[in-house]
Amino acid sequence: MQANNNEMVIGIPRAMNFYHNYPFYYGFFTALGIKIVLSDVTTKQTMSDGSALVVTETCLPIKIYVGHILNLLNKGVDKIFVPSIQSIAPKIYNCSKIRGLPDLIRNVVKTPFTMIEATLDKSEKGLGLYEFLAQAVKPFGITDMNRIKEASKAGWRTFNNFHIMSKSGMSYKKALSYALQGKVFIENNTKEYPISIALVSHGYNIYDDRASMKIIEKLEAMDVKVYTALQLSHEQTIEGINTLGDKMYWANEYEMTGTAGHYLKDNKIDGIIALNAFGCGPDSLMVERIIRKAKQFNKPIINLTIDEQTGEAGFVTRLEAFVDMLFRKKRANIINKIDIQNNKSEYLLNTDFIETK
Ligand code: SF4
Repeated sequence: MQANNNEMVIGIPRAMNFYHNYPFYYGFFTALGIKIVLSDVTTKQTMSDGSALVVTETCLPIKIYVGHILNLLNKGVDKIFVPSIQSIAPKIYNCSKIRGLPDLIRNVVKTPFTMIEATLDKSEKGLGLYEFLAQAVKPFGITDMNRIKEASKAGWRTFNNFHIMSKSGMSYKKALSYALQGKVFIENNTKEYPISIALVSHGYNIYDDRASMKIIEKLEAMDVKVYTALQLSHEQTIEGINTLGDKMYWANEYEMTGTAGHYLKDNKIDGIIALNAFGCGPDSLMVERIIRKAKQFNKPIINLTIDEQTGEAGFVTRLEAFVDMLFRKKRANIINKIDIQNNKSEYLLNTDFIETK
């Protein structure tokens, strides 16, 4: 998309860090008068276009990311934001695929375009947030640091509003939509659910409707209340990482071990679903640790792995089986309580269920 009348346009792929950072990017770029063009939502075509350019073993989220770059190029966008987010806190690193995203794209996408490859590395001097933002807008001729810092405040405002609404239990799409409109509402959903599940995964696995096969909507249709990392504060996540006795190294820990660790101790949570992408090294290690800890907490857990071949029918069957087991376990617990109150012997139903693909 060639900019008309000196219009500044940046393309943002609707993939990977989009699901975490977009509220910030929106507030920031918009405050500087830069128009954002997003790639279209993920489709089967996006996945197969991206998969065709990378080796088979590459994880699904990266294949999807490549597909979104191609989608933006098809739309005619000539400046695309491909950040390299190396380290999000001192000595806390992203996986190598996220860190090397600009190199990966440069090597596999042959159509020429301007890649805006800002680097954020909080483990190195001079590669903090403001430097990252300055690199992001330099191709538009914006170099005034005061303007950049001012625009970052707008970014944080949108980001914080999004998180306030998400923490109140509002759905991802609704919270994002309100945040982008500059609105803040607190969700007041009083509906009662018989079963609560913690869905442990990355935003790009959960909120991409195609990759996740709308897992949250499917669970809600089964009368399940779903909790994710978005309902937790930073402190709760850190406390969750400590619960798993983990020494933090990967940025992934926040959304994986931190979230799992918190919900393992939460009595309102009946079970955990760990959703990871086939080919993800860091997550496969973390899921193993989470499963071991879940046994100690006597919390049922299922691990679902997704790739571009995952069939919806089999996916739903496994979800239904897990939810059904949770219902039966809960019912047995209620019967036990009544029997104990009535001095009857305890009825023990062993329904713990651990499954990995
Ligand atoms: S963390 Fe895992 S799923 Fe995410 S990009 Fe890295 S390898 Fe892929």
